[in-house]
Amino acid sequence: MKTDTIAAIATAMSSSGIGIIRISGEQAFSVLQEIFRTKQGKKLDKIVSHRVHYGHIYDGNEMIDEVLVLVMRGPHSYTAEDTVEIDCHGGVLMMKKILETVIKYGARPAEPGEFTKRAFLNGRIDLSQAEAVIGVINAKNQYALKSSVSQLAGSVSDRIKRLREQIIYEIAFIESALDDPEHISLDGYGEKLLGNLEPMIQEMEKLVSSADNGRVMTEGVRTVILGKPNAGKSSLMNVLVGEERAIVTDVAGTTRDTLEEHIRLQGISLNIIDTAGIRETEDVVEKIGVLKARNMADEADLIIFVVDASIPLDENDEEIIELIRNKKAVVLLNKTDLEMTVTKEYLEEKTGHVVIPVSAKEETGIELLEQEIKSMFYQGEIDFNDEVTITNVRHKTALVEALASLRMVRQSVCDGMPEDFYSIDLMNAYEVLGSVIGEAVEEDLVNEIFSKFCTGK
Ligand code: GDP
Repeated sequence: MKTDTIAAIATAMSSSGIGIIRISGEQAFSVLQEIFRTKQGKKLDKIVSHRVHYGHIYDGNEMIDEVLVLVMRGPHSYTAEDTVEIDCHGGVLMMKKILETVIKYGARPAEPGEFTKRAFLNGRIDLSQAEAVIGVINAKNQYALKSSVSQLAGSVSDRIKRLREQIIYEIAFIESALDDPEHISLDGYGEKLLGNLEPMIQEMEKLVSSADNGRVMTEGVRTVILGKPNAGKSSLMNVLVGEERAIVTDVAGTTRDTLEEHIRLQGISLNIIDTAGIRETEDVVEKIGVLKARNMADEADLIIFVVDASIPLDENDEEIIELIRNKKAVVLLNKTDLEMTVTKEYLEEKTGHVVIPVSAKEETGIELLEQEIKSMFYQGEIDFNDEVTITNVRHKTALVEALASLRMVRQSVCDGMPEDFYSIDLMNAYEVLGSVIGEAVEEDLVNEIFSKFCTGK
């Protein structure tokens, strides 16, 4: 495939020790030959792949910078095309100047994600691996990083490919038998198919359920703290924040006007939603209204309900108890350093949730809270081991659809439907799974995925 040659600054646009300009495409080497001179002032007349050359970048007679260049001949490069990386001094002006020179001599500016898109279009990586590149770059914690690295190495792709192979085998068998009934018999095939479907369905169910853990792991647990005025919500926040003050950041919320605060507990990120509501008002429920509190509770992965143990429950507490029924919630019985009016047992019975006695003032019981949260979101240790985790919503959606198709096949077999019914749903599962790795996906989707990248990647 003939492509034009693209170039971009691959490192951050800020002053740093080294900056890298990346060039990829058919003219990558000829552009380099125009602008690079070795220490002896010579052009590179022969390009030997995977070499590093020391010398200078020139625009005509003007010397621009002292550099190291790496040359990689396709397909053994990131994009699978001829690629050059110029290591220059990492000043913003310098990087821009070199990029301009590269463009002057025949490359064009790359679009965001275009290098990775080429790696995908050239078949070096599949779509799920390309998406993992964004994951690796944007990973906010070690779990997110680990899962992206494993996805980049092909863990998700391998699973998907295996499932597709199994499915296409069944489709091929049915189609051949229907074509050639004299030689291939479908007698007893339904039973056999059921036996083959079951492990596939189980595997896909597991992958789908890993997606929720995956999201929590990579993005953090959306957490809402509820409680009546003076129950101790702010004090609790301060204790939790105090655990790791250095990494707490206030960011303007991604949605509407909410403010999120990020807290790390034993490797899990809690994104405390609407801390403004907690910190600036006396009472979340009263100030923001029951409706909004309900919405927040609906959107949250976790609700922490703070109860004042020193005074009897009031209607505010009752309202919240109703709100959190059947939700993932932990109840904190706070102020246990004072004389207690409300007991753990009573509250447990009343709310149906785990109740943890704490004192925000004396900072006791906080560890139990951390352990409880950890066990709520992870079965066993927080560790991937070799398990594949789905962290991408697009992948999850595809898996859910493919799973539904396989369940339909199972139903059709059980209902004694004719065999050609099976292959329609099998085919759908096969195609939908293919979309995860980028087989037969629409160009628009590909463009959308790569537009999320930064330039130079
Ligand atoms: P909020 O309105 O729910 O945010 O409650 P605050 O965190 O502002 O706390 C209200 C009052 O209760 C403050 O005077 C706190 O010092 C006090 N308080 C909070 N937690 C405790 C606790 O565990 N023990 C005691 N004795 N007082 C507490």
